Amino acid sequence: DDLRRAAREHPDRTAVVVWHTDGRPKESLTYAELERRVERIAAGLAGLGVARGDVVTLQLPNSWQLLATSLACFRIGAVAGPVLPIMRKRELSFMTGLTGSSVYIGPARHRGFSHAQLSAEVADEVPTIRHRVLVGLAEESEDTPGLAGALDFDTALLGEPGAEGAVFGDTGGREARPDDLAYVMFTSGTTGEPKGVMHSHNTLHATNRMQIDALHLTGDEVTAMGSPTTHNAGWTWNFTMPLLLGATCVHIDNWDADLMLRVLEEEKVTFFMGAPPFLVDLIDRQRAQRRDLSHLAVFATGSAPIPPVLVEQARDVLGCRLYALWGMTENGAPTITRPEDPEMRAAESDGSPVPGMEVRIVGQDGGPVPPGGTGRLQVRGATQCLGYFRRPEVYADNVTDDGWFDTGDLARDDGHGGIRIAGREKDVISRGGEKVPVVEVEAALLRHPRIKDVAVVGYPDDRLGERACAVVVPQGEPPRLPDLREHLDALGMAKQYWPERVEHATELPKTPSGKVQKFKLREQLVHG
Ligand code: ATP
Ligand code: MG
Repeated sequence: DDLRRAAREHPDRTAVVVWHTDGRPKESLTYAELERRVERIAAGLAGLGVARGDVVTLQLPNSWQLLATSLACFRIGAVAGPVLPIMRKRELSFMTGLTGSSVYIGPARHRGFSHAQLSAEVADEVPTIRHRVLVGLAEESEDTPGLAGALDFDTALLGEPGAEGAVFGDTGGREARPDDLAYVMFTSGTTGEPKGVMHSHNTLHATNRMQIDALHLTGDEVTAMGSPTTHNAGWTWNFTMPLLLGATCVHIDNWDADLMLRVLEEEKVTFFMGAPPFLVDLIDRQRAQRRDLSHLAVFATGSAPIPPVLVEQARDVLGCRLYALWGMTENGAPTITRPEDPEMRAAESDGSPVPGMEVRIVGQDGGPVPPGGTGRLQVRGATQCLGYFRRPEVYADNVTDDGWFDTGDLARDDGHGGIRIAGREKDVISRGGEKVPVVEVEAALLRHPRIKDVAVVGYPDDRLGERACAVVVPQGEPPRLPDLREHLDALGMAKQYWPERVEHATELPKTPSGKVQKFKLREQLVHG
């Protein structure tokens, strides 16, 4: 057990720091304190009857409670079921129902929203849920709907000091085995219904180990992230990886770029991971704030296409190195740009496979693609998940006979031994059979001074099958079609790739992990 070892070797080192957006003082736990709480929560869960293999739904915001409870699940062989705080009745019922979750753990209230009430409604629909445990229940007034039958986190799970040690008797004296299911993590739902991805302790460990080795990270690292830890990227980069490393992970309980800049300065953060929208926000605020970010060595970004203009701004404004990475919930982060690849820069590359992972690009028929050509990206290696929870047929559809996982992403060789993501197959625009290089068109449009954000999506056309529409979030006077075309022409982009329609929007529909949900835009273009 890595945490036990860490708590023995460096008990006084800080493991977790949590900053609150509502102004409450920050909380900080050493490795020894974290270990003690994990033991108590493990005992508490066992006391609630949670047994090996049971799924515990964790809809907690970034907090030490989330980290400690997840680790407690690992310890007793229960399965952690992280769910984003923003999920509401429909999604939460789907997720807890699919996993057959027996315990729901959430905040009593977060950002004004009552999870007490939400969880009560969900528990009515999902009969497997036996307990609801709420953080901060004691602070709620008694007539808050949904409190009846709920348990207080501190009382039910932290219990009396001294509860440590009781746990293994109660769970039959067995700890989790390395190939046991450790957690079920839902995909972002960018393309439709989220899939419950099953990972074991082994696959999680492999992901973390490979990231640490690829980036030469050490226990001196202070990591931070702005997105939810209950999503794949936060779960690995700002929770399990830094704790395996014996480093310090810093959290904020909701995204706030101004607070994050302050945290980066005061906590002397060295390593930040965030999808492009978080990078955009930080660059924007840092221009005004001018914080001392001299400790920040690396900003790792990915999860969505990385516009080259952003890479330049990050270097100039944040003054750190930018690493690109590509990965999915199904397989961690198999490709990363790295220190030893000076040729490969985030503006042109999404990285090369980390040692231990194999990556290949194949044509539609599964055969090789011509040099420089775009094809389907497939992955194989130790970080690959066990499958989709209760959807084995959907997972099997994506795996070849020789064990390659077909990612649904398109990619091409970047010319330096790495890959460049060319978008998702589902988002391809085929204009009379000619494929529009969507990611490049978007990157070029983002260089327009009056475009704050943009997505290029296809809309049906009788003659060509499909044409491209630019959905633009303007800054200042909204640019019109001739403006866009003039801009793309000046950048030397071929005419057949220019959008033939422009729509303006105040924002793009995005998942909390920062991905544009293009299927929603396509629906809007067709149905208005
Ligand atoms: P769903 O599978 O539910 O539709 P999702 O695929 O967005 O959602 P995640 O597993 O969170 O769920 O995201 C993985 C996807 O993110 C990849 O398949 C890829 O399309 C995209 N992605 C990740 N890194 C990059 C990158 N560097 N450049 C472009 N796209 C990326
Ligand atoms: Mg996916």
